[in-house]
Amino acid sequence: MKQNVLIAGGGIGGLAAALVLGRQGHTVKVLEQASEFGEIGAGIQLGPNIFKMLEFLGLTDAIDAVAYYPPALGMRDIITDEAVIQVPLGNAARAAYGYPYGVIYRANLHDVLLHACGALPNVELRTSTKVEFYTQTENRVSVTLHNDEIVEGTLLIGADGMWSKIRESIVADGLLKGDAKFYVSTAHTSDDVDEALDICDQALAAVAAA
Ligand SMILES: Cc1cc2nc3c(=O)[nH]c(=O)nc-3n(C[C@H](O)[C@H](O)[C@H](O)COP(=O)(O)OP(=O)(O)OC[C@H]3O[C@@H](n4cnc5c(N)ncnc54)[C@H](O)[C@@H]3O)c2cc1C
Repeated sequence: MKQNVLIAGGGIGGLAAALVLGRQGHTVKVLEQASEFGEIGAGIQLGPNIFKMLEFLGLTDAIDAVAYYPPALGMRDIITDEAVIQVPLGNAARAAYGYPYGVIYRANLHDVLLHACGALPNVELRTSTKVEFYTQTENRVSVTLHNDEIVEGTLLIGADGMWSKIRESIVADGLLKGDAKFYVSTAHTSDDVDEALDICDQALAAVAAA
């Protein structure tokens, strides 16, 4: 059954969802609060699993035109500048995973998705539409926008980011407080490095054999 899909948020997640559902023939409305579609931030890594999805979406060529495929990924000791580890990428990544490892400017990835969505007549892209809350009945869902306009659909996807109002309305476990931490682990001795490399080799061999 074809759905009338509402997507709150037109970031990378919302547009990717719109593209998948739009290509399947569903009617999609993307409701973005900003006055224009865009993406802030710098670069983003594209792991091989993402390229499988990009291929599924017919975006391989468009991404190839703007992505960079580094030949290797290296880490250095911050104090001595000694090369600690180097992971071959390029053809090695393609051979191991069937897809490349790339890096891309965030705005370029967003732009590729935006253009692909714009080419689908059943995907409507609306800006300046901030979703305030939703209500649902047995088979309908409606969202109320900042200007009290009500938009109706049969399915609502919350792609409204880290501080998602949609998610909070559903699970009500408290908005994120912004105290997430990034952990960096380091290898301290050459034995550690050898062990880490062994683990990488075993993982690569396991993936290649799968
Ligand atoms: C420092 C950093 C580095 C990262 N590096 C990588 C990486 O290398 N590789 C990788 O795969 N991922 C990476 N990530 C994660 C990745 O960036 C995010 O998972 C992804 O951008 C989330 O996209 P999104 O569309 O879900 O949310 P967002 O990009 O936050 O987009 C949400 C959109 O919803 C809109 N919105 C919000 N509220 C409303 C509302 N009420 N009504 C309407 N619209 C609304 C916003 O304006 C925005 O456009 C990184 C994240 C960070 C912070």
